[in-house]
Amino acid sequence: MAGIYLHIPYCESKCVYCDFYSVAEGEYRDEFVSVLTEEISCRAKEAPRDAVFRSVYFGGGTPSLLSPEEIRSILDTLRECFELDESAEVSMECNPGTVTAESLAGYRACGVNRLSFGVQSFFEDDLAFLSRIHSPEQAKESIEAARQAGFDNISLDLMFSLPGQTASRWSENLRQARELGVTHLSCYSLTVELGTPLASIVNRGEVCMPVQEEDAGLFETTMRTLGDWGFLHYEVSNFARPGFECRHNLVYWNHEPYLGFGPSAHSFTDGKRTWNVTSIDRYIGMVRTSGTARAGGERLTRDQLRTEHVYLGLRSKGIDLEEFRARFGSDLVEDNRERVRMYVERGLLAVEGNRLFVTPAGFLLCDEICAEIN
Ligand code: SF4
Repeated sequence: MAGIYLHIPYCESKCVYCDFYSVAEGEYRDEFVSVLTEEISCRAKEAPRDAVFRSVYFGGGTPSLLSPEEIRSILDTLRECFELDESAEVSMECNPGTVTAESLAGYRACGVNRLSFGVQSFFEDDLAFLSRIHSPEQAKESIEAARQAGFDNISLDLMFSLPGQTASRWSENLRQARELGVTHLSCYSLTVELGTPLASIVNRGEVCMPVQEEDAGLFETTMRTLGDWGFLHYEVSNFARPGFECRHNLVYWNHEPYLGFGPSAHSFTDGKRTWNVTSIDRYIGMVRTSGTARAGGERLTRDQLRTEHVYLGLRSKGIDLEEFRARFGSDLVEDNRERVRMYVERGLLAVEGNRLFVTPAGFLLCDEICAEIN
């Protein structure tokens, strides 16, 4: 499988916690889509030989600030340049404050078949704290409108470990998501990223972030609740109804090739990672001049590929030990015999048949485990 990522860098305003690359809508907005399609056409030859692309992901930023006509023009260019599977998953991130029944119907008509709404919370004061532009009502109306427009694969992003968030409020968020009938949930702990406004207010002592035990408690609630409701926990932060795992996520986690277009987008093909400039000015100028906007790249060594393979596998479905041996020429469990034994005894790792995987209890300490096994 191979995937395509498109970074749409516009946002109406900057959320207090966000460190993704985004700019205000005015900057080069009129020419952005034509430059993006130019980049796609110029880089078409980078597709791995015989690659059939089975996922397209519009991320950002806020892709739903693009009109259906603009999304259609990008998808038409992709279809001209690459072999897109007829049943490819075409996902689009949506901000509930930026969609209408009409725009949602337009996205569906041009081939988008999966939406991911950045809801974060169903509480007004949480949304105000996070400086999101939408209200809880807008989130619910958008999801309902998406369903009316023909979308049956809808994901929500929700955020836990907000300052002062109680277990009952978090459970209420999960309950409302379930009531809306979504097929996929991404549940992230609020992280204080360096350089964000959130980092400044935390450093000034204006808000107090939850301690580790509180964060772990909310994550445990998430795993238990969504498990009871039949969601599969297929990656640390991601839960899906059976059959609705995000294919694009799986491309990343299975270490499969992907091409990324737009400012700051990364690509991974043939063991090589490349990335675009993180500046709309430079992106527009470079694509207009040379058709590409590459800022850098690196060929991953065998050790780096192995480390990433272990990290990505342990955070998701686990590691197929036979496949690992065939690919890297060594026995992962044997190479880490003492550490694996210790984590298995503590109930944090398990080996079943040919698969080494992190248990639900282990997901609470996933970063530590991933750092230790290599
Ligand atoms: S809408 Fe998304 S990308 Fe834009 S600022 Fe907020 S979190 Fe960041």
